[in-house]
Amino acid sequence: MAFRSRKNAPPPSDAWVKVYRGTGPTDAYLIRDWLHRNEVPAQVRGENLMSLRGDIPIWDAWPTVWAPKEHQERALQLIEAFFGPTLVHPAWQCPRCGEENAPNFASCWSCGTDRPSRPDGTQGEK
Ligand SMILES: [Zn+2]
Repeated sequence: MAFRSRKNAPPPSDAWVKVYRGTGPTDAYLIRDWLHRNEVPAQVRGENLMSLRGDIPIWDAWPTVWAPKEHQERALQLIEAFFGPTLVHPAWQCPRCGEENAPNFASCWSCGTDRPSRPDGTQGEK
């Protein structure tokens, strides 16, 4: 067992991005395994922070899942699929002009197009 003790150690590489923040001590590992099963490299970081929960905000205390930047989009799609369609979208993309809109916007701030009733993530074709 290897324990990482440097709590503020930066990520080993800029090429890795955080794709999921756990909401409990175990779900980050479920996500990691799910990504692995779908051939997306992923790793859990920050599990060592759990013992430090006294001096950092609790939402930073749970493990996070990281994936290589080139796999970020795939990883996010997989995570969304893992949780199903009820997952709250962080943002939605306007189908008309492509602008990103906050989840609470009912229509595009830029061009006024109504939010698609079911943003199911099938966009992504270029
Ligand atoms: Zn728009």
